[in-house]
Amino acid sequence: MNSSLSLTLDAFYTDTKVTFDSTLKNDQFYLNEQLQDELATQKVSRFLDLVREKAAISTSAIIHSTNHVPTAAGLASSASGLAALAGASSQACDLNLTPTELSRLARRGSGSASRSIFGGFVEWQMGDSDETSYAVPVDDANWDLAMLIVVVNKHEKAVSSRVGMKRTVETSPFYPGWLETTPLDLAEMKQAIQEHDFQKVGEITERNGLKMHGTMLGANPPFSYWESDSIKAMQLVRELRHAGLQCYFTMDAGPNVKVLCKKSELSLVKARFSQLFKEEQLISAGVGPGIRLL
Ligand code: ATP
Repeated sequence: MNSSLSLTLDAFYTDTKVTFDSTLKNDQFYLNEQLQDELATQKVSRFLDLVREKAAISTSAIIHSTNHVPTAAGLASSASGLAALAGASSQACDLNLTPTELSRLARRGSGSASRSIFGGFVEWQMGDSDETSYAVPVDDANWDLAMLIVVVNKHEKAVSSRVGMKRTVETSPFYPGWLETTPLDLAEMKQAIQEHDFQKVGEITERNGLKMHGTMLGANPPFSYWESDSIKAMQLVRELRHAGLQCYFTMDAGPNVKVLCKKSELSLVKARFSQLFKEEQLISAGVGPGIRLL
């Protein structure tokens, strides 16, 4: 429905290994060393079916995946996990896909995974098919940028991104407003990135994030991912800004708050957050690279 932009982070990633094995009767999926139930395995199998079709094989696989990111907590585990699964599974059957082809494949598993194939700032182009909708790198983001992630709650969220998005698209009267204005935000953002204009990048990040959360409040039934600590974190960002530190917040579909700041000011920002949040709730991240074959 709309194009979108992400910043790949080095602190959150997934290691995935896929082995096709003709002695297996079914796919076996281990996530963080735990054998997964039928439902979770089915999701992965459906994705592997796409890869099997491309490779013209019907062999089952054993998948070992480790998320260095909390799963299903609004910290983009599906983006990281499905990008890794696309890379590992296509490589395991020698498909030798280009990064663009990989992005198209990853999108079939999770839209946001199309972006996580690449490092830095990445745009996922809107569209309704593999021909039109895939991600393209925008900028390596190799300038004074960092992110502090405030983990308010790392448990699985009650409303998954997929369910929440569907409900918002179908019922929120604010959704058309989002669709109308997001292309303008994106165009302005790409300009600001090109100019390395941190303040502009931050301002667009914050207002676009809040606008997305606004659409959910208009859904029927309405829902919100915010918790009281999310609001506390947002408020602190505003206070820090007032005190002269350049930082801006954004939130994905979850209660956790991401603070975009300058790499050179990250330790100062973190020190202020340490006064309100526990050490284990604060994760520092830099700009991350794209997918890598280990
Ligand atoms: P958000 O997209 O809002 O940032 P999230 O990605 O953590 O949050 P969901 O969009 O609900 O949460 O997606 C979580 C789902 O992604 C999991 O239930 C699982 O199906 C899939 N997933 C997560 N990690 C992996 C992985 N390593 N391998 C395969 N699938 C994964």
